[in-house]
Amino acid sequence: MIGERDVLVIHDERMLAHRPNAEEPFQPGKLDSRVQAILGGLFEGAVIKWSYPEHPGRLQAITDLLMREPVPGVRYETGRPATEDQLGRVHITSYVENIYALRGKQAWLDVDTTAVSPGSVAAAEVAAGSAIAAVEAVMEGRAGSAFALCRPPGHHADSVRARGFCLFNNVAVAAAHAQAELGCERVLIIDWDVHHGNGTQDIFWASPNVLFFDTHRAAPFYPGSGNKEEIGVGLGEGLTVNVPLPAGCGDPTLVRAYREILVPAVEWFKPDLILVSAGFDMHRLDLCMNLSYSGFGALTGIVQELADKHCGGRLAMVLEGGYHLESLARGVRTVLEVLAGGDPPEIEEPGISDVVSLADFHRDAFR
Ligand SMILES: [Zn+2]
Repeated sequence: MIGERDVLVIHDERMLAHRPNAEEPFQPGKLDSRVQAILGGLFEGAVIKWSYPEHPGRLQAITDLLMREPVPGVRYETGRPATEDQLGRVHITSYVENIYALRGKQAWLDVDTTAVSPGSVAAAEVAAGSAIAAVEAVMEGRAGSAFALCRPPGHHADSVRARGFCLFNNVAVAAAHAQAELGCERVLIIDWDVHHGNGTQDIFWASPNVLFFDTHRAAPFYPGSGNKEEIGVGLGEGLTVNVPLPAGCGDPTLVRAYREILVPAVEWFKPDLILVSAGFDMHRLDLCMNLSYSGFGALTGIVQELADKHCGGRLAMVLEGGYHLESLARGVRTVLEVLAGGDPPEIEEPGISDVVSLADFHRDAFR
């Protein structure tokens, strides 16, 4: 029953101060004329003006829905900024310093659209710190499970580079913190964002203690990585598990991938903490894939069952992408319902229940 289980949501308004603007100039002093030409081409003569899709309205849509339709069992805490040491576990020092140097400034960071505004660095510190807070809450037993409403997102940022709207890799910072400070040895990171979590993969590429499982739309879709042959190296060989999928996949496909690929991997790995890079851009309203809310609920049910079985229920989710405000907010709410003890929804081939009711509607016409 919804409300049976305790769920902590980490939400912090400081993350609303990240307001990237697509019309800002490229990073001052590091202007590359070729980059500027590419960016110029994006906007010049465009019929529809491109606006930055990763904006504060995303978090507002989620919290507005949760205020209007509260989920029993869910409580809230604010986050806190991650420290330089905490960020430094997964990012090189010079990268962290470069980001710190942008405090209070407006700039583009990378050709693939990561921009900062004056509040962005502080927001990114709080995003990473909120992921840490979620992990601490479940590791210390203060919460049954936790969901950090992070932005900017994190899974495209690798140890040296901001990419794809991401500055610090929130989920990686949280995993490294759990290992360094919270007595956690083996961490499973699941990434169900529609884009491959290239940054997370890169950071733990050779780690023997992090299993990374990622379902995503196959390359050449952004960021172009995540082929099945990418399995990690050295001590981490075999611990990166990529499941690249064609466009248009729906609930049954994803659930099958989780049951047939993730579950046996987890039975073998036996994690003591599960983290989820929870993006909501696989929802059909986000146009790449065909997941419904039931699909997100079903995946949550599988992950929660694994957490209950292997790690005393210790499960923390970290928000990644999701750009259609309605499906983002409703998707998060669906996941929270299952985390709070709701039964995972039944799934079906997309459209089947529509056909059943349409058949009822048309039945009498041809009698
Ligand atoms: Zn995404």
